[in-house]
Amino acid sequence: MYKRVLLKLSGEQLQGKFDGGFDAERAAWIAHEIERATTVGAQIVVMIGGGNYARGTQLVGGGVQRVTADNIGMMATMMNAVALADVFNTEGLPARALTNIKADQVADQFTHRRALSHLEKNRVVIVAGGIGRPYLTTDTAAVSLALELECDVILKATKVDGVYDSDPHQNPDAKRFASLTLQEAVERPDIKVMDKAAIALAADHDQSIIVFELLHEGNIMSAVKGDTIGTVIS
Ligand code: UDP
Repeated sequence: MYKRVLLKLSGEQLQGKFDGGFDAERAAWIAHEIERATTVGAQIVVMIGGGNYARGTQLVGGGVQRVTADNIGMMATMMNAVALADVFNTEGLPARALTNIKADQVADQFTHRRALSHLEKNRVVIVAGGIGRPYLTTDTAAVSLALELECDVILKATKVDGVYDSDPHQNPDAKRFASLTLQEAVERPDIKVMDKAAIALAADHDQSIIVFELLHEGNIMSAVKGDTIGTVIS
């Protein structure tokens, strides 16, 4: 049983039935999945991505600079975080959005102490703005945050049931890994589940990661209980 977990959700996972943007029904479904995990006693921190609205690397060009593009990406994560917090609270799952980019009118600033205080009150903490600096992704921010908040494990939600050596949606012969070492995940070029900067940071600090399929009912709770699901990278 893990006491405190960091759940990394990508923006794409919030678009649900839509081609982009935010699907409140999907968010409500996620709220119930997280709630099941909290009933077994886990504290949950969510690092939310922004890819359903914008990704820095896709916006660069035609005069738009990388730093600006990344700032837009971080603002996208903020849109997700505040909407997600609303849906979670409405569904009866106490949650607070904290942001690593300054936007006082929109959400409280992330501070270490504030995050811990919410967690101690059994509120889900949803962190927006990644780490608040450009040239990074929310995967790297997720690892950094997990270390900062002393999370026992990172749950990286994906579309498939673990780590494969190629995309199983495109390659029927793709091989699934039951487990990997952090070092293997850093070194193997065929492991692309998170960016290498994120995995390298996790490897430096022995931070375990479980890669699992989000849309499988009960998975978050099972992972929290320590049941074998997905691929464990440790
Ligand atoms: N981003 C950033 N710094 C961070 C985290 C994110 O600049 O610490 C920007 C970056 O442009 C990224 C975008 O925000 O592409 C959205 O995050 P990400 O691509 O990780 O979202 P996901 O793919 O998980 O939905």
